[in-house]
Amino acid sequence: MPTDQYGARSAVETRAKGAKKKGQREVDLRSDTVTKPTPEMREAMAYAEVGDDVFGEDPTTNKLQDMSAKMFGKEAGLFVTSGTQGNIAAALAHCQRGDEMIVGHKSHMANAEVGSVSAFGGVQIRMVQNDEQGRVNPDEVEHAIRPDNIHYPITRLIAIENTHNGCGGYPITPEDTEAVAGVAKRHGLKFHIDGARIFNAAVALETPVKELAKDADTVSFCLSKGLACPIGSVVVGSHEDIEKVRRQRKALGGAMRQVGIIAAAGVVALESMVDRLAEDHANARKLAVGLSKIKGIEIYPDKLPTNLVFCWPKVKSPGEIQRRIEARGVRFLSLSYGWRLVTHYGITSDDIDYALDVIEDTFKEYRV
Ligand SMILES: *Cc1c(COP(=O)(O)O)cnc(C)c1O
Repeated sequence: MPTDQYGARSAVETRAKGAKKKGQREVDLRSDTVTKPTPEMREAMAYAEVGDDVFGEDPTTNKLQDMSAKMFGKEAGLFVTSGTQGNIAAALAHCQRGDEMIVGHKSHMANAEVGSVSAFGGVQIRMVQNDEQGRVNPDEVEHAIRPDNIHYPITRLIAIENTHNGCGGYPITPEDTEAVAGVAKRHGLKFHIDGARIFNAAVALETPVKELAKDADTVSFCLSKGLACPIGSVVVGSHEDIEKVRRQRKALGGAMRQVGIIAAAGVVALESMVDRLAEDHANARKLAVGLSKIKGIEIYPDKLPTNLVFCWPKVKSPGEIQRRIEARGVRFLSLSYGWRLVTHYGITSDDIDYALDVIEDTFKEYRV
């Protein structure tokens, strides 16, 4: 059964069916969230200096937050349990009950966060169209801002996503960001970036995250995806905004105690896992080019942006083919709009060769 773009159901299904055969090589391309911590992270976690972070006394968490703020050119950072929690806490920090926020129609915030800004904060979501590369049109955004009229909710926040997960993992350039941020500024609105994979954008665009984040009031980014940490995200922004986010995080149950144990992995990630994302992008390109040579697969390798590879099996029984590929240890997600294969830490160039061999063999067996 195909699923939505986030693949949750499919992940459960594939786990059930794909019981691993002993000795079977595994190349897990379902998501960059399957990454495991590096040995250096485990070591840092074991020996992390800790304290009670609700009292602000966890030195390792403070270090991670300060490093994050510095990298993003902001005053402060806040460690949160997940990207979802970071986005919700930021949105609730910026908005009051009955306010409205504007996001792209394929955004994670609109589609994959359980409607929580509405459920917990009484915030209404207004969507504008994302184009194929995850951008929103600044004129459309401006048009979606509510005029001052007693009938309307008050527009308070605009949020974009970088890279855009639901639109092929495209990076959003500083120019495109600035154009939308300019609309927010002109109307006195807050501007948030859901930067779950913003380091992939930075590496792909060869631009520091500071540059991508410069127009944002708050940015959330994930440590637990391509950066390979086991847990956690960070929100950065001004002291004032981050204090508001801290209060919302507490309300959401996300204030933790000796959390330096997990923040320690984040410090290692920021120090040593960012530049290597280029390797994931190179592997993604190699995978896409290889897939484009397999009869029965439709793909546009020239459109490949970061570490997410999308392709479309043009065959009668894609489910059966996927099961056969998985039986040989190559795992990926089948989503409502195609197959998604993600490269990440732990996947080598050699793994890509193996995956391509398996996929090619399987399609050949089907004589497509
Ligand atoms: C993964 C993701 C999130 C949420 O992160 P979690 O840590 O899984 O809650 C938010 N936004 C985008 C764009 C994502 O890809």
